[in-house]
Amino acid sequence: MDFKYQLQNHFLKFKTPFAIAHGTRDGTDIVLLYFTAENITAIGEASLPPYLIETKESVHEFINSFFNDFKFTADLNHCLDYLQQYKSGNYAAKACIDIAFHNWFASYKHISVWQLLGLKNTPLPPCTYTIAMGAPDLIRQKVKEAAGFRMIKVKLGGEHDKQIIDTIIDSTDTPLCVDVNQGWKDPDFALDMINWLAERKIVFVEQPLPKSDKNGQQWLFNKSPLPIIADEAVQTIDDIDAVKDFYHGINVKLMKCGGISPGLAMIRKANSYHKLVLIGSMSETSCGIMAAAQLSSLANWVDLDGPLLASNNPFENVNYENGVLQI
Ligand code: MG
Repeated sequence: MDFKYQLQNHFLKFKTPFAIAHGTRDGTDIVLLYFTAENITAIGEASLPPYLIETKESVHEFINSFFNDFKFTADLNHCLDYLQQYKSGNYAAKACIDIAFHNWFASYKHISVWQLLGLKNTPLPPCTYTIAMGAPDLIRQKVKEAAGFRMIKVKLGGEHDKQIIDTIIDSTDTPLCVDVNQGWKDPDFALDMINWLAERKIVFVEQPLPKSDKNGQQWLFNKSPLPIIADEAVQTIDDIDAVKDFYHGINVKLMKCGGISPGLAMIRKANSYHKLVLIGSMSETSCGIMAAAQLSSLANWVDLDGPLLASNNPFENVNYENGVLQI
Protein backbone atom coordinates (compact mmCIF):
# COMPACT_ATOMS: atom_id res chain seq x y z
CA MET A 1 0.00 0.00 0.00
CA ASP A 2 1.32 3.45 -0.87
CA PHE A 3 2.08 5.79 1.98
CA LYS A 4 3.79 9.06 2.64
CA TYR A 5 4.96 10.76 5.79
CA GLN A 6 6.20 14.05 7.11
CA LEU A 7 8.13 14.99 10.24
CA GLN A 8 7.69 18.22 12.15
CA ASN A 9 9.66 19.53 15.12
CA HIS A 10 7.90 21.33 17.95
CA PHE A 11 9.19 22.83 21.20
CA LEU A 12 6.46 22.17 23.76
CA LYS A 13 6.71 25.01 26.28
CA PHE A 14 5.72 24.77 29.93
CA LYS A 15 3.32 27.44 31.21
CA THR A 16 5.61 27.76 34.25
CA PRO A 17 9.27 26.58 34.25
CA PHE A 18 9.09 23.00 35.53
CA ALA A 19 11.33 22.10 38.48
CA ILE A 20 12.04 18.49 39.46
CA ALA A 21 14.98 16.76 41.16
CA HIS A 22 16.80 16.52 37.76
CA GLY A 23 16.72 20.32 37.27
CA THR A 24 14.46 23.03 35.85
CA ARG A 25 13.49 23.50 32.21
CA ASP A 26 11.24 25.64 30.00
CA GLY A 27 9.99 23.02 27.57
CA THR A 28 10.63 19.79 25.72
CA ASP A 29 11.64 18.91 22.17
CA ILE A 30 8.94 17.01 20.32
CA VAL A 31 8.95 15.35 16.90
CA LEU A 32 5.56 14.81 15.26
CA LEU A 33 5.01 12.25 12.51
CA TYR A 34 2.20 12.66 9.98
CA PHE A 35 1.67 9.28 8.29
CA THR A 36 -0.76 9.13 5.34
CA ALA A 37 -2.18 6.15 3.43
CA GLU A 38 -5.61 5.58 1.81
CA ASN A 39 -6.36 9.28 2.40
CA ILE A 40 -6.11 8.79 6.17
CA THR A 41 -3.49 10.83 8.00
CA ALA A 42 -2.49 9.58 11.43
CA ILE A 43 -0.19 11.37 13.85
CA GLY A 44 2.55 10.03 16.11
CA GLU A 45 4.78 11.78 18.64
CA ALA A 46 8.24 11.44 20.12
CA SER A 47 8.92 13.48 23.28
CA LEU A 48 12.59 14.06 24.07
CA PRO A 49 13.35 15.37 27.56
CA PRO A 50 17.04 16.33 27.78
CA TYR A 51 18.00 13.66 30.34
CA LEU A 52 17.27 10.89 27.80
CA ILE A 53 19.72 10.03 25.05
CA GLU A 54 17.46 10.43 22.02
CA THR A 55 17.38 13.75 20.18
CA LYS A 56 15.34 15.33 17.38
CA GLU A 57 18.16 14.36 15.01
CA SER A 58 18.28 10.72 16.14
CA VAL A 59 14.48 10.46 15.84
CA HIS A 60 14.51 11.87 12.29
CA GLU A 61 17.32 9.55 11.34
CA PHE A 62 15.56 6.47 12.75
CA ILE A 63 12.18 7.26 11.19
CA ASN A 64 13.64 8.11 7.76
CA SER A 65 15.66 4.92 7.78
CA PHE A 66 12.66 2.86 8.94
CA PHE A 67 10.30 4.11 6.25
CA ASN A 68 12.97 3.76 3.61
CA ASP A 69 13.00 0.00 4.27
CA PHE A 70 9.31 -0.43 5.12
CA LYS A 71 6.50 -2.04 3.07
CA PHE A 72 3.11 -0.99 4.41
CA THR A 73 0.38 -3.63 4.55
CA ALA A 74 -3.04 -3.42 6.19
CA ASP A 75 -1.88 -5.76 8.94
CA LEU A 76 -1.20 -3.92 12.19
CA ASN A 77 0.63 -6.78 13.91
CA HIS A 78 2.97 -7.17 10.97
CA CYS A 79 3.75 -3.42 11.02
CA LEU A 80 4.31 -3.41 14.79
CA ASP A 81 6.51 -6.52 14.80
CA TYR A 82 8.62 -5.09 12.02
CA LEU A 83 8.96 -1.81 13.91
CA GLN A 84 9.94 -3.31 17.26
CA GLN A 85 12.55 -5.57 15.64
CA TYR A 86 13.96 -2.74 13.54
CA LYS A 87 17.24 -1.71 15.22
CA SER A 88 17.71 -1.66 19.00
CA GLY A 89 17.02 1.26 21.34
CA ASN A 90 15.39 4.37 19.78
CA TYR A 91 12.36 3.97 22.06
CA ALA A 92 10.85 7.44 21.58
CA ALA A 93 11.29 7.17 17.79
CA LYS A 94 9.62 3.75 17.86
CA ALA A 95 6.83 5.14 20.06
CA CYS A 96 6.29 7.88 17.48
CA ILE A 97 5.74 5.35 14.68
CA ASP A 98 3.82 2.90 16.91
CA ILE A 99 1.37 5.66 17.91
CA ALA A 100 0.86 6.73 14.29
CA PHE A 101 0.24 3.11 13.24
CA HIS A 102 -2.32 2.55 16.00
CA ASN A 103 -4.07 5.81 15.13
CA TRP A 104 -4.05 4.94 11.43
CA PHE A 105 -5.54 1.45 11.90
CA ALA A 106 -8.14 2.74 14.38
CA SER A 107 -9.21 5.43 11.88
CA TYR A 108 -9.19 2.90 9.06
CA LYS A 109 -11.58 0.68 11.05
CA HIS A 110 -13.60 3.63 12.43
CA ILE A 111 -12.96 2.62 16.04
CA SER A 112 -10.93 3.94 18.96
CA VAL A 113 -7.44 2.68 19.67
CA TRP A 114 -8.59 1.05 22.93
CA GLN A 115 -11.15 -0.90 20.90
CA LEU A 116 -8.49 -1.83 18.37
CA LEU A 117 -6.52 -3.27 21.31
CA GLY A 118 -9.54 -5.29 22.44
CA LEU A 119 -9.78 -3.48 25.78
CA LYS A 120 -13.03 -3.21 27.74
CA ASN A 121 -15.12 -0.11 28.24
CA THR A 122 -14.68 0.01 32.04
CA PRO A 123 -14.59 3.01 34.40
CA LEU A 124 -11.18 4.69 34.22
CA PRO A 125 -9.02 5.69 37.18
CA PRO A 126 -8.69 9.40 37.95
CA CYS A 127 -5.85 11.34 36.38
CA THR A 128 -3.28 13.08 38.56
CA TYR A 129 -2.49 16.78 38.33
CA THR A 130 1.27 17.39 38.65
CA ILE A 131 2.75 20.10 40.85
CA ALA A 132 6.46 20.75 40.39
CA MET A 133 8.79 21.95 43.15
CA GLY A 134 8.46 25.60 44.05
CA ALA A 135 7.97 28.28 46.70
CA PRO A 136 4.77 28.19 48.82
CA ASP A 137 3.00 30.93 46.81
CA LEU A 138 3.53 29.09 43.53
CA ILE A 139 2.47 25.79 45.14
CA ARG A 140 -0.76 27.37 46.45
CA GLN A 141 -1.50 28.76 42.98
CA LYS A 142 -0.92 25.30 41.42
CA VAL A 143 -3.25 23.71 43.99
CA LYS A 144 -5.98 26.12 42.82
CA GLU A 145 -5.31 25.09 39.20
CA ALA A 146 -5.73 21.44 40.28
CA ALA A 147 -9.38 22.07 41.24
CA GLY A 148 -11.56 19.30 39.79
CA PHE A 149 -8.76 16.73 39.86
CA ARG A 150 -9.10 13.85 42.32
CA MET A 151 -5.40 13.18 42.78
CA ILE A 152 -2.35 15.47 42.89
CA LYS A 153 1.17 14.27 42.10
CA VAL A 154 3.87 16.33 43.80
CA LYS A 155 7.48 16.47 42.71
CA LEU A 156 9.86 16.09 45.67
CA GLY A 157 13.57 15.42 46.09
CA GLY A 158 14.70 18.96 46.89
CA GLU A 159 15.45 20.85 50.07
CA HIS A 160 11.90 21.88 50.95
CA ASP A 161 9.96 18.63 50.60
CA LYS A 162 8.11 18.84 53.93
CA GLN A 163 7.25 22.48 53.38
CA ILE A 164 5.80 21.64 49.94
CA ILE A 165 3.64 18.84 51.37
CA ASP A 166 2.48 20.96 54.32
CA THR A 167 1.57 23.81 51.95
CA ILE A 168 -0.55 21.51 49.80
CA ILE A 169 -2.25 19.75 52.73
CA ASP A 170 -3.13 23.16 54.20
CA SER A 171 -4.87 24.11 50.93
CA THR A 172 -6.68 20.94 49.79
CA ASP A 173 -8.05 17.54 50.84
CA THR A 174 -7.29 16.01 47.42
CA PRO A 175 -5.29 12.76 47.78
CA LEU A 176 -1.56 13.19 47.07
CA CYS A 177 1.12 10.98 45.62
CA VAL A 178 4.75 11.99 45.31
CA ASP A 179 7.49 11.56 42.70
CA VAL A 180 11.02 11.97 44.02
CA ASN A 181 12.80 11.42 40.65
CA GLN A 182 15.69 9.62 42.45
CA GLY A 183 16.22 12.74 44.58
CA TRP A 184 16.75 11.09 48.00
CA LYS A 185 20.25 9.70 48.08
CA ASP A 186 20.19 7.96 51.47
CA PRO A 187 17.87 5.00 52.27
CA ASP A 188 17.55 5.96 55.99
CA PHE A 189 16.53 9.48 55.01
CA ALA A 190 14.10 8.07 52.42
CA LEU A 191 12.48 5.81 55.04
CA ASP A 192 12.11 8.72 57.49
CA MET A 193 10.47 10.76 54.72
CA ILE A 194 8.16 7.91 53.68
CA ASN A 195 7.09 7.36 57.31
CA TRP A 196 6.38 11.09 57.57
CA LEU A 197 4.41 10.98 54.28
CA ALA A 198 2.48 7.89 55.45
CA GLU A 199 1.26 9.84 58.49
CA ARG A 200 -0.13 12.35 55.99
CA LYS A 201 -1.91 9.60 54.03
CA ILE A 202 0.12 9.98 50.84
CA VAL A 203 -1.02 7.33 48.31
CA PHE A 204 2.33 6.20 46.85
CA VAL A 205 5.96 7.24 46.39
CA GLU A 206 7.59 7.12 42.98
CA GLN A 207 11.31 6.48 42.52
CA PRO A 208 12.62 7.71 45.91
CA LEU A 209 16.22 6.47 45.47
CA PRO A 210 18.64 6.48 42.52
CA LYS A 211 17.85 3.56 40.23
CA SER A 212 21.43 2.30 40.70
CA ASP A 213 20.96 1.86 44.48
CA LYS A 214 19.47 -1.63 44.31
CA ASN A 215 20.50 -2.65 47.84
CA GLY A 216 19.10 0.55 49.30
CA GLN A 217 15.85 0.08 47.41
CA GLN A 218 15.52 -3.54 48.54
CA TRP A 219 15.99 -2.47 52.17
CA LEU A 220 13.49 0.39 51.72
CA PHE A 221 10.94 -1.88 50.01
CA ASN A 222 10.89 -4.22 53.02
CA LYS A 223 10.30 -1.37 55.47
CA SER A 224 8.16 1.11 53.54
CA PRO A 225 4.60 1.68 54.80
CA LEU A 226 3.68 3.10 51.36
CA PRO A 227 3.77 1.50 47.90
CA ILE A 228 6.93 2.41 45.98
CA ILE A 229 6.63 2.74 42.22
CA ALA A 230 9.60 2.34 39.85
CA ASP A 231 9.93 4.92 37.10
CA GLU A 232 13.55 5.65 36.15
CA ALA A 233 14.44 2.08 37.28
CA VAL A 234 12.21 0.46 34.68
CA GLN A 235 12.31 1.39 31.02
CA THR A 236 11.20 -1.64 29.00
CA ILE A 237 9.57 -5.01 29.61
CA ASP A 238 13.04 -6.51 30.02
CA ASP A 239 13.57 -4.48 33.21
CA ILE A 240 10.50 -5.76 35.04
CA ASP A 241 12.07 -9.00 36.30
CA ALA A 242 14.95 -7.04 37.80
CA VAL A 243 12.69 -4.67 39.80
CA LYS A 244 9.71 -6.86 40.66
CA ASP A 245 11.07 -7.93 44.05
CA PHE A 246 11.80 -4.46 45.38
CA TYR A 247 9.14 -2.16 43.99
CA HIS A 248 5.38 -2.42 44.48
CA GLY A 249 4.60 -1.20 40.99
CA ILE A 250 5.88 0.38 37.80
CA ASN A 251 5.31 3.56 35.84
CA VAL A 252 4.72 2.68 32.18
CA LYS A 253 5.52 5.44 29.69
CA LEU A 254 5.22 4.97 25.94
CA MET A 255 8.36 7.04 25.28
CA LYS A 256 10.46 4.80 27.52
CA CYS A 257 9.32 1.47 26.13
CA GLY A 258 8.63 2.11 22.43
CA GLY A 259 4.89 2.79 22.19
CA ILE A 260 1.41 1.44 22.84
CA SER A 261 2.14 -2.17 21.92
CA PRO A 262 5.21 -2.59 24.19
CA GLY A 263 3.40 -0.55 26.88
CA LEU A 264 0.49 -2.99 26.82
CA ALA A 265 2.90 -5.92 27.08
CA MET A 266 4.59 -4.27 30.08
CA ILE A 267 1.27 -3.79 31.85
CA ARG A 268 0.30 -7.42 31.25
CA LYS A 269 3.62 -8.62 32.62
CA ALA A 270 3.34 -6.32 35.67
CA ASN A 271 -0.20 -7.63 36.26
CA SER A 272 1.08 -11.21 36.12
CA TYR A 273 3.36 -10.31 39.06
CA HIS A 274 0.49 -8.53 40.87
CA LYS A 275 2.32 -5.23 40.60
CA LEU A 276 0.61 -1.84 40.65
CA VAL A 277 0.58 0.09 37.38
CA LEU A 278 0.80 3.81 36.83
CA ILE A 279 0.48 5.08 33.26
CA GLY A 280 2.65 8.14 32.91
CA SER A 281 4.17 10.30 30.22
CA MET A 282 6.93 12.74 29.45
CA SER A 283 5.76 16.27 28.69
CA GLU A 284 3.75 15.51 25.59
CA THR A 285 1.10 17.03 23.36
CA SER A 286 -2.46 15.70 23.20
CA CYS A 287 -1.20 13.16 20.65
CA GLY A 288 1.15 11.25 22.98
CA ILE A 289 -1.14 11.71 25.96
CA MET A 290 -4.19 10.31 24.17
CA ALA A 291 -2.13 7.36 22.93
CA ALA A 292 -1.13 6.46 26.50
CA ALA A 293 -4.66 7.14 27.73
CA GLN A 294 -5.96 4.29 25.58
CA LEU A 295 -4.36 1.93 28.15
CA SER A 296 -5.99 3.68 31.15
CA SER A 297 -8.48 0.91 31.86
CA LEU A 298 -5.57 -1.39 32.76
CA ALA A 299 -3.92 0.99 35.24
CA ASN A 300 -4.30 1.68 38.93
CA TRP A 301 -3.49 5.35 38.36
CA VAL A 302 -3.18 7.61 35.35
CA ASP A 303 -0.62 10.42 35.28
CA LEU A 304 -1.40 12.07 31.96
CA ASP A 305 -1.79 15.77 32.57
CA GLY A 306 1.00 16.91 30.20
CA PRO A 307 -1.16 19.12 27.95
CA LEU A 308 -2.38 21.10 30.99
CA LEU A 309 1.16 22.07 31.88
CA ALA A 310 2.00 23.20 28.32
CA SER A 311 1.35 26.62 26.80
CA ASN A 312 1.57 25.63 23.11
CA ASN A 313 -0.05 22.24 22.67
CA PRO A 314 -0.46 22.17 18.86
CA PHE A 315 -3.62 20.02 19.05
CA GLU A 316 -7.06 20.28 20.56
CA ASN A 317 -6.75 20.00 24.31
CA VAL A 318 -7.66 16.76 26.01
CA ASN A 319 -10.74 16.60 28.17
CA TYR A 320 -10.77 15.73 31.87
CA GLU A 321 -14.25 15.15 33.21
CA ASN A 322 -14.54 14.97 36.97
CA GLY A 323 -10.77 14.40 37.01
CA VAL A 324 -10.88 11.49 34.55
CA LEU A 325 -9.16 11.76 31.17
CA GLN A 326 -11.81 11.01 28.54
CA ILE A 327 -10.75 8.58 25.82
MG1 MG B 1 8.43 9.81 37.55
